[in-house]
Amino acid sequence: MKRSDTLAASTSALNTSLGRLVVLTGPSGVGKGTLVKALLAKHPQLHLSVSATTRAPRPGETHGKEYYFFNRLEFETLIATDQLLEWAEYADNLYGTLRPAVEAKIAQGKTVILEIELVGARTVRETFPDTLRVFIMPPSLDELERRLRDRGTDADPVIRRRLNHAKAEIAARDEFDVQIVNDDFDRALEQMERVIIG
Ligand code: 5GP
Repeated sequence: MKRSDTLAASTSALNTSLGRLVVLTGPSGVGKGTLVKALLAKHPQLHLSVSATTRAPRPGETHGKEYYFFNRLEFETLIATDQLLEWAEYADNLYGTLRPAVEAKIAQGKTVILEIELVGARTVRETFPDTLRVFIMPPSLDELERRLRDRGTDADPVIRRRLNHAKAEIAARDEFDVQIVNDDFDRALEQMERVIIG
């Protein structure tokens, strides 16, 4: 049995005593990060998985907090040694979920949130069909572009790549169990609480 099969078996058989996975997907700039931060502040029993990435840290980001920052070779070693639950290439960088940390939290009965893009969300759906999959929608593509530009963290070509990704991700929203439109922050947060906490 592969390690991923073991976790899949344990999460489905013992869903009530072990923790569970929640996948949160939505276009870059939609406000997933802010929503998750608010959710975790209100519900400290939830745990957010810190991903690995080859993207350079943005100002203010630190290794181990927002992401674990690796170079490409290090990241490829993580893949080769089966340390990642899922991974994907996004806007020329690699992103992946570190398996050991997630497994440990699930074993402790925690609900673990994975804030990941579409390809990774699909992988998790294959491996862990019991995962709750939530898609966060922008009010519109124009509004998403405005948010990405206002954020001021990415250069114009990167913003355009992120918007193209956004279109593909929005087209796949029906693959998710729940869709939440982030037009009104408080309402979106309340909806997230309802589906994740119950
Ligand atoms: P950003 O560079 O804006 O932090 O993230 C870019 C995209 O990568 C976002 O859609 C984010 O959800 C996604 N992402 C972050 N971590 C992971 C991960 O571990 N796996 C996958 N597949 N996507 C991730």
